[in-house]
Amino acid sequence: MLPDLERLIQLQRLDTAADEARRTVDGIPSRIEDLDTRLTASTTAVDAARTCVEDKKNERQAGEKSLAEVQGRLSRFKEQLMAVKTNKEYTAVQHEIATAEAEVQRLEDTILEHMLEADDLAANVEAAERALQADRVEIERDRAALETTRAEMERTLSGTSNERVTLTGHIGAAARELFEAVARQRGGIAVVEARDGHCTVCHVRLRPQVFNQILRNTELIQCESCMRILYHDPNDGGARAREHDPAR
Ligand SMILES: [Zn+2]
Repeated sequence: MLPDLERLIQLQRLDTAADEARRTVDGIPSRIEDLDTRLTASTTAVDAARTCVEDKKNERQAGEKSLAEVQGRLSRFKEQLMAVKTNKEYTAVQHEIATAEAEVQRLEDTILEHMLEADDLAANVEAAERALQADRVEIERDRAALETTRAEMERTLSGTSNERVTLTGHIGAAARELFEAVARQRGGIAVVEARDGHCTVCHVRLRPQVFNQILRNTELIQCESCMRILYHDPNDGGARAREHDPAR
């Protein structure tokens, strides 16, 4: 294989690996943000569940206070009943007592309901706390994995950057300039494989003579459509067998 072509293929591998590493690193902050959002949501759910418990407790205390007041009134009516002089008064106080007793009954029912609800609400708090705890563990694990990936990718980037300097030093100026020019215009992809008579990136069908030249890997040949430098992968064993007949 033409030495410059071989080195350009290697250069492309380095650039592609660096590009992937850079994309991964760039994507990490938003993934960490997603983890933070998830943690906030779980924390908010616990707060909301606790607020429900607190609200219900306040309601129950208000109910208990009302109950004490009505019970106080009821005892006073019962004392009054002992002191009434007329039937009319007796009926009136009896009526007050009945009203107060109904009110006591209603308040006691409400308080009982609140106590039952409070059990459910306390269970909700526990469930939310357990979910938060599980999320915390998972989120911390994911965050640590992202930091590991970031460190790995940064090592890859610095490794490829050093390798690139060494490698480009061994590539002829013309080949290097061609590579850089095509890479600039073609999203960083300057060297691609030709397979089955086609450019594997823009998929244009190559002329048979051109493809046969590419199979030899002895010169820098550009795709006529996307201008990328084409090569043949010798490990793609089927290619020779499928070699195009130039006479066709
Ligand atoms: Zn092409």
